[in-house]
Amino acid sequence: MKSPIEHAQRHEAMAHSEAVRMQAAEEYVLGELSPVLREEYEEHFFACVACALEVKAAAAFVDNACDVLRQRPDVHGQ
Ligand SMILES: [Zn+2]
Repeated sequence: MKSPIEHAQRHEAMAHSEAVRMQAAEEYVLGELSPVLREEYEEHFFACVACALEVKAAAAFVDNACDVLRQRPDVHGQ
């Protein structure tokens, strides 16, 4: 699977299947990717429409969830 050449260039974009498998979009938006994976994933989704949309959708979802959580405690005042 890993050729010596691949091993030599360490800075390589993530494979799409890998990104999907590890749910990289969600992890990325939540800030849970390691710095290395983050860079690899960024390099991948700049060139991958499907993953770019995933990141957008995940970001919108997280934003929404935050709004809901933020509004909830104030509903009844106590
Ligand atoms: Zn992709």
